[in-house]
Amino acid sequence: MGKRVAVVVGGSVAGLACAHAVAEAGWEVVVVEKAAVPAGGNGTGAGLGLDAQSMEVLARWIPGWGLDAATLPLAVDLNRATDSEAKAARTLTRDEGFNFRAAHWGDLHRRLHEALPAAVTVLWGHQFLSFEAPDGDGDGDDEHGVVATARVLRTGETVEIAGDLLVAADGCTSSIRRRFLPDFNLRYSGYSAWRGVFDFTGKESCTTMSGIRKAYPELGNCLYFDLAYKTHAVLYELPNNRLNWIWYINGAEPVLTGSSVTMKVSDAMVEEMREEAKRVWGPELARLMRETVEPFVNVIYDAGEPTPRLSWAGGRVALVGDAAHATTPHGLRSTNMSVVDARVLGCCLARYCREPCARSRARALAEYEAARLPVVAAQVLHARRLGRLKQGLVVGSHGEVFDARTATEEEVSQLRQSSMPYFSGAPIVE
Ligand SMILES: Cc1cc2nc3c(=O)[nH]c(=O)nc-3n(C[C@H](O)[C@H](O)[C@H](O)COP(=O)(O)OP(=O)(O)OC[C@H]3O[C@@H](n4cnc5c(N)ncnc54)[C@H](O)[C@@H]3O)c2cc1C
Repeated sequence: MGKRVAVVVGGSVAGLACAHAVAEAGWEVVVVEKAAVPAGGNGTGAGLGLDAQSMEVLARWIPGWGLDAATLPLAVDLNRATDSEAKAARTLTRDEGFNFRAAHWGDLHRRLHEALPAAVTVLWGHQFLSFEAPDGDGDGDDEHGVVATARVLRTGETVEIAGDLLVAADGCTSSIRRRFLPDFNLRYSGYSAWRGVFDFTGKESCTTMSGIRKAYPELGNCLYFDLAYKTHAVLYELPNNRLNWIWYINGAEPVLTGSSVTMKVSDAMVEEMREEAKRVWGPELARLMRETVEPFVNVIYDAGEPTPRLSWAGGRVALVGDAAHATTPHGLRSTNMSVVDARVLGCCLARYCREPCARSRARALAEYEAARLPVVAAQVLHARRLGRLKQGLVVGSHGEVFDARTATEEEVSQLRQSSMPYFSGAPIVE
């Protein structure tokens, strides 16, 4: 029996995690990624929070992951109410059993890439265009595979890549998902996020850092959420002397160009954000925002409806990562869901590796879908609710709105990260 080949479209976190998992199941993998080169470590992207399950899964693939300095603890999940007039903060809820770790997106991506096994080839600078999955009778018994077409961006040449399985890891605007679910649209959350990473290398004792360490004494161990009236901010420390902040602001949906959810910002917009920060937040956070170089805006979307399926074409196409379940960031789910998608997909493929290809593919993907659909649907919807609560937007059918100033203890307890479905880990199907 020849080696089975998976074509993975997208070489970001979900795509590279799938490459590891599918290779671990004994397959060969070709990753098609339009970016010309892999991410260059700390400089690319911002921060992310990894849960215990993802940390364990990543340690299978990345030598030394979790044992070295690539992550910092986020042991405490803390929600505080900020009084914008008095510039005072009080604790709403504190969970010391949070057990996440903070990492740089770019660092995780680089390490996933460097650790890829020999069975994986990454075609950088290749833009996936389309694919053919010749029709069988759909019962999973046909032996046809898939043929993907991609453009080599450097030369303009078009190439075909044949395989037995196509994995769509092409992000929240996935063209592969669009082919199967043409009516599936992203849903604007009602707010956008200003984001920034403050590099304090050599500046540990500057006024900004001493102020922020005083106002946020548990940085380096704590995920801070500050809630003000109809807005909230997030702050945590990353490895290598960086602070990661996010500030969510309600408003009409901005007009985006292209397929990125990151918006171009003008100097005037940055200045306006910095002035507004002085009004809403304490002086320490406002100063950090002022001194952060090149803050940027992400417009926040999620999957309008949870996707009804994760596989098609008799088990020849699978969706993973943001392509499958775009989510708002409030439950720190995107990367964690992507890592677990990959692991479950790999386990399902490994389970049927001795059966004929077509039948094993169909069974494996049916199991993958059955394991992941309930988890990702529940997590996307819960993250949406968390975001709306923290932004003071209507959450229930009776017009309920969370207001930190008047919230009861029961209402406040909903803010905890541990209220996320499957918080302690999703089923892996080993
Ligand atoms: C450069 C970058 C920086 C990021 N930084 C952060 C961060 O700091 N914090 C955070 O929480 N999340 C970050 N993310 C998002 C994060 O990776 C995802 O939300 C999550 O990990 C799920 O990843 P994904 O692989 O499903 O989607 P994505 O990360 O969006 O990756 C989709 C990939 O598919 C590729 N792709 C899309 N269409 C095509 C095509 N036609 N042909 C070939 N390739 C295609 C894209 O180039 C991209 O690499 C970043 C993503 C990128 C691409």
